Amino acid sequence: MKWFSARGAVASRLRQRKHALLRRYPVPEHALPGSLALTHRRCGKPTCHCASGKGHPMWSLTFMVEGKKRVERIPTEWVEEIRPLVLEGRAYKDAVSEIFAINAQLLALWRRQHQKKKRGG
Ligand SMILES: [Zn+2]
Repeated sequence: MKWFSARGAVASRLRQRKHALLRRYPVPEHALPGSLALTHRRCGKPTCHCASGKGHPMWSLTFMVEGKKRVERIPTEWVEEIRPLVLEGRAYKDAVSEIFAINAQLLALWRRQHQKKKRGG
């Protein structure tokens, strides 16, 4: 069954988009999941300058592992290197979702085309 080779302009547009995505998004080996966020935390020392301000800047990466949310502190000097990997991970996930959605649409088109064929005799 070659449901991925459904006929017509819509199917061929979907396939083109899918192949463009596949070419553009090989699995990024070092990509990271989740999101990077900047928060501020007071260290608690009464004499520290942060006691009167909003606290020390603290970056963290929030991500899921086996259904559980995890937060990992990221040293500020790493952020420049880590951020693009998080963006890469998100772009890859979006591309994979889009490819799967395209596959589902191709499957639906194929089924409709084959139903018509049968009814038409
Ligand atoms: Zn402090």
